[in-house]
Amino acid sequence: MMRQYELVERVRAYDPAADEDLLNRAYVFTMKAHGAQLRASGDPYFSHPIEVAGILTEYRLDSATITTALLHDTVEDTVATMDQIEDLFGAEVAKLVDGVTKLSKLELRSEVNREAENFRKLLLAMSDDIRVLLVKLADRLHNMRTLRFLNKAEKRQRIAIETMEIYAPLAERLGMRRIKDELEDLAFAELNSEAHESVTKRLQFLRDQAGDMVDRITNELRQTMQEAGIPATILGREKKAYAVWRKMERDNVAFEQLSDIVAFRIVVDSVPDCYRALGVVHGRYRMVPGRFKDYISTPKGNGYRSLHTTVIGPVRQRTEVQIRTSEMHDVAEFGVAAHWAYKQKVAGGATPHYRWLQELLEILEHAENPEEFLEHTKLAMFQDQVFCFTPKGDVIALPRGATPVDFAYAVHTEVGDSCVGAKINGRVLPLRTQLANGDQVEILRSANSKPDPNWESFAVTGRARSAIRRFIRNRERAEYIELGRSIAEKVFREAGHELTDAALGHVSKVLRLKSHDDLYHAIGMGQVTARQLLYTAFPGERRSRGKTAIGAINRVLPTWWRTSSDKGNGHAVPIRGLIPGMAVHHAPCCHPIPGDRIVGIVTRGKGVMIHTIDCASLEQFTEEDERWLDVKWDVSPDDDNVHVGRIRAIVINEPGGLSSLSSVIAKNLGNISNLRITNRDSHFFEMVVDIEVEDVKHLTNIITALRATPQINEVHRVRG
Ligand code: MN
Repeated sequence: MMRQYELVERVRAYDPAADEDLLNRAYVFTMKAHGAQLRASGDPYFSHPIEVAGILTEYRLDSATITTALLHDTVEDTVATMDQIEDLFGAEVAKLVDGVTKLSKLELRSEVNREAENFRKLLLAMSDDIRVLLVKLADRLHNMRTLRFLNKAEKRQRIAIETMEIYAPLAERLGMRRIKDELEDLAFAELNSEAHESVTKRLQFLRDQAGDMVDRITNELRQTMQEAGIPATILGREKKAYAVWRKMERDNVAFEQLSDIVAFRIVVDSVPDCYRALGVVHGRYRMVPGRFKDYISTPKGNGYRSLHTTVIGPVRQRTEVQIRTSEMHDVAEFGVAAHWAYKQKVAGGATPHYRWLQELLEILEHAENPEEFLEHTKLAMFQDQVFCFTPKGDVIALPRGATPVDFAYAVHTEVGDSCVGAKINGRVLPLRTQLANGDQVEILRSANSKPDPNWESFAVTGRARSAIRRFIRNRERAEYIELGRSIAEKVFREAGHELTDAALGHVSKVLRLKSHDDLYHAIGMGQVTARQLLYTAFPGERRSRGKTAIGAINRVLPTWWRTSSDKGNGHAVPIRGLIPGMAVHHAPCCHPIPGDRIVGIVTRGKGVMIHTIDCASLEQFTEEDERWLDVKWDVSPDDDNVHVGRIRAIVINEPGGLSSLSSVIAKNLGNISNLRITNRDSHFFEMVVDIEVEDVKHLTNIITALRATPQINEVHRVRG
C-alpha cells in the first residue's frame, strides 16, 4: 500500500502546484473513516481508496480528483456525511464525491443485462464532470485487480461481465486504452479462464521462441531513425491476452507470428516528423499492401491519432509499426485524462469543470467511426434524456420531461394501457410526475383499467401519446355510435317504428355512409339528425309530421316534460359521469350532477350537452325540438368520476369565517375544486365555490350543513 508521503510526492512530481495539505488530510480522513473495515483480501479497507488514488496519479490528475479517489467510498460505506466532506474538503471535492457515490448506488441497483448500452449512457449522463467517471473507472480497475479474493463465483462473474460490458467500453470511448486493456484482460481471466490461460501460454512460447528478436527490431528501428536525423523513441508493446484472443476470434485464425503479439511504436516530436519517419520506414522496408492507415489526418472518434503501417521488418518478419508524437502517444494511452493534462499545461487557470466537459463534447462531436464511439449518440443528446430503472434493473431511456405514463408505454403498450399508478423510488407519486435520472419506477397496474384521456396532457413520448390518442378515438367512436343508436331508437319509437337493420335497409347508402355504425356515429355527432334518418327510411313520415300526437306534443312541451313524468322515460338515453373529450358533456352553465333532472341537447359535431331541466340557457333551444334528447343518469357508486356542483355562499367577515366553510365541506367529504370571492365588504364575503361531490344528495347534505353553520349567512346552489 502506498504511503502518505509517496502519494503526495507522486502528485507533486507532475503537478508542483498540487494542494499538498488537501491530499494529506484526505489520506488521514479515509484511514480513520474506514477504520478497521477489511477487504475480502484481508487488507485493511482503506488500502482500496489509496490504491485507486495511486492509479489516478498515473494519469497525472489534479488534486481534487486524487482527493476524491481517497474519499470515494467514505459516504457510502462509513459514517461520514456529504456535509462533512464539504466542510473539510470544499465544494468541488464534495461534488465529485457525491457524483461517484451516485454512480456506485446505480451499480448496486442495476443487474447487468442487455441494456448495457443504455447503462453506459446513463453513466455518462450522470457524470457532468468527467473526473467522476475517471475515479469510477480507477475504482473498478482496482476492484478487478483484487477480484480473485471474492469467495462467491457468482459475484465474481457478475462483476466481470459488468466490467466487460460497461466499464471497458466506457474506458475505450474515453480513449483510456490502458485502463480498457487491463479491465478486459482481468474480466477475460474470470469469464473464460481456460482460454485466458492458453493464450497466455502461447504468448509466453512465442516470446521465448523470438528470443532477443524484439530487442533486435527495436535497435534497428532506432538506428534507422538516427541515420535519418529524426529524434525518436522506439517502444515495443506486447498485446494483452484478451486482445489477441479477440483477434483470433474475429479473423478466425490461429496466431503464429510475432507481428500478432508485438506492435512497435516510433514516438517523435512533431507531426512533420511523423510523416518523415513514415517515409524512412517505407523506404527501407517493404510495406505490406492495404495496411497503411493515416489516423493523423483522420483521427478516430475517441481522439486517437497515429500512422499505422505493416512492413516486412528487419528480421524478415511482418512487423506492425505505429508512428506518433509523444502527445499523441499520451492521448492513446490516457485518453481524456491526457487531453486534460496537456490543456492544463497550456491554459493554466481556466475553470477545470468547464474544460472537462468541453473536452468530452469535442471528442464526441468529432466521432466518425460508429464502431469505436458512442454509436450515433452524442453527449449533448444525453442531456435531453433521462434513464430510469424497472424494478428488475433494466434501464429505460426516455426524453427529458417523461412521466411514469411514458415509462409504462416504453416498457410495453399493455403495461401503459393497464397503468393505474406508479411508485417512484418506492413512493406512490402522481402519474404526471417528471422522472429524473436513476429513478426506479414501478408501474401499478389493474386488469380492468383503461388509459385516461387526461394523460395526453402530460405524456411526452410519441409512443404513449399515440396509444392514448388511439384509445380515445376508439372509445369516442364507440360512445358516439351508442349515443346515435339511442337517439335513433327514440325517434323511431315515437313514430311507431322499430329500429331494425331491415328498417334501415339502404338508408346508409342513401346518406352516403358506409355502415349502420357510421350512420349512428353521424347521428351521435349531430351531423345527421335522427329525423332525417326516419324520413329516409319511411318517406311517408315526412308528410304525416305534425299530424301525429307526438309531433303535437313536441311543439307544445319541451321534451324534459315527458322525462319528468317517469312514464315516457323508458327510452331515455343513459348518461354516465363526465368523461372529458367524449361524446357527452356536462353544461358549464348549470353544473348538472347525478340526481339532478336533466335533459340533453344535441350539438352539431360535439355530441350531447347535458343541462339541468331548469337551466335558463335551454330557452334558446325551444324552437328546435329535434335537438332535445331524453336522458337519465346511469352512475354506479364505484364510479370514481368527479362531479362538480357549484354553490354561492355569503360568509360573515370575521376570523374563522372562511375556515368554517372549508372545514364543514371537508367534514362532509366534499372537495373544493375552485373558490372565487365575488364580493367583499367589511361585513361579508360573497363567494362561488365549486365542490367535487358524488351526486345531488351529497351536495344537498353539504348545503344543509353549511346552512347550519353560524358564520355562514346564506347558501344556495348556483343554477344556469
Ligand atoms: Mn471503491
